[in-house]
Amino acid sequence: MPDTQLMDKLVSLAKRRGFIFQSSEIYGGVGSVWDYGPLGVELKKNLKERWWRSMVYERDDIEGLDAAILMHPRVWEASGHVEGFTDPLVDCRTCKARFRADQLDQGQCPQKPSKKPGEAEQCNLTEPRMFNLMFRTFMGPVEDDASVVYLRPETAQGIYVNYLNVMQAARQKPPFGIAQIGKAFRNEITPGNFIFRTREFEQMEMQFFVKPGEDERWFEEWKERRMQWHRDVGITPDKLRFHEHASEELAHYAKKAFDIEYEFPFGWQEFEGIHNRTDFDLKRHMEYSGKKLEYVDTATKERYVPYIIETSLGADRLALVVLVDAYREEEVEGEQRVVLGLKPAIAPIKAGVFPLVKKDGMPEVAQRICDDLRSRFPIFYDDGGSIGRRYRRQDEAGTPFGITVDGQTLEDQTVTVRDRDSLVQERVSADRLVGYLEERLTS
Ligand code: ATP
Repeated sequence: MPDTQLMDKLVSLAKRRGFIFQSSEIYGGVGSVWDYGPLGVELKKNLKERWWRSMVYERDDIEGLDAAILMHPRVWEASGHVEGFTDPLVDCRTCKARFRADQLDQGQCPQKPSKKPGEAEQCNLTEPRMFNLMFRTFMGPVEDDASVVYLRPETAQGIYVNYLNVMQAARQKPPFGIAQIGKAFRNEITPGNFIFRTREFEQMEMQFFVKPGEDERWFEEWKERRMQWHRDVGITPDKLRFHEHASEELAHYAKKAFDIEYEFPFGWQEFEGIHNRTDFDLKRHMEYSGKKLEYVDTATKERYVPYIIETSLGADRLALVVLVDAYREEEVEGEQRVVLGLKPAIAPIKAGVFPLVKKDGMPEVAQRICDDLRSRFPIFYDDGGSIGRRYRRQDEAGTPFGITVDGQTLEDQTVTVRDRDSLVQERVSADRLVGYLEERLTS
């Protein structure tokens, strides 16, 4: 049974605390496009940086890239997107709603009593027709067929068309990878579930180029590494699993594909894909561009078109996984509280700083502490309302530490540091705070 209540609570918390807002809300919103507020932008940035660090900085065989969103239109012919990046669309003649024909079981008819599309008597679905998910626009002042360009539906192609440039400039050779984080756009028929399926989203993709024959070993390696990465972000291991694509599910380019799935309140769903794309993409680009995209080993004279192992993760979908997984309601000190138990390393704000009362010089001392910490971590000063309420606000924001300046601070320059999860309060000397927090924020 989908826990729609949990999703509703999360959407409301995300808005209240400034994680995620609906795009163009004052105009009634725009379908399945979302904006990240002050806390959301930090959360997503932390996730992206963590991914980038593990892919690019911690390895000497992966290089970074930031390719443009707009590409030569032939790229999308070569990749198969112009012809085949389609979903089957059905319309209901009665209620005018649209559904994906292959996902009717996940759809919801807008008529009451609510049923799945096609199940109610009055449902009158059309035959499915194929709908291309790419957004089209025009390059230059003339809006004709010759000036059609697409907003990229995946970041991968920017890597493939640059693979020789990167390999030569960075003096790499297979096995090596290229990592990229960037926006992708898909005109999804049935977007939804908050930021799970949106029309504009960010992908974190890494394409690993290997010698044919070594692809299966590398596929296994990346599959395991990516799963471990998610466990290290702090996602509950029991809510993670692999789903192997059966042969009829495989994309046209893939020899093997595994999804990493998370158990969302609306069921198990993919949030990262690991694909063995073979030499399909490079061979197609060779054919369409007329350029040789082989690797030539100068020592052995061996030449081949590399196979590609892809790891493709949605930054927004990962943010949703992390938020859902961190959300908990519990009773502490006789009161209900909502907490986002985010790992300190990915929490948007690292510490809240609170003067216990707004007098006796406590706000000034707290401000000075803020000034000391501000250049190192995102922190938040709050002197509004009871100390309990201020703690609760930061619990909801996922802030791991609460620093309180009280009467004793004025005597011995120590503050209390409250741990969001254990609620244990430790007295720490104000001049040791930076080191104290640094130690605890790395995990
Ligand atoms: P789906 O079957 O859910 O449409 P897909 O198999 O087409 O997804 P891929 O093309 O493999 O997805 O994309 C890789 C990753 O990009 C997905 O695992 C997901 O995290 C992210 N992603 C894809 N489409 C969207 C979308 N519309 N909104 C948000 N994230 C997306």
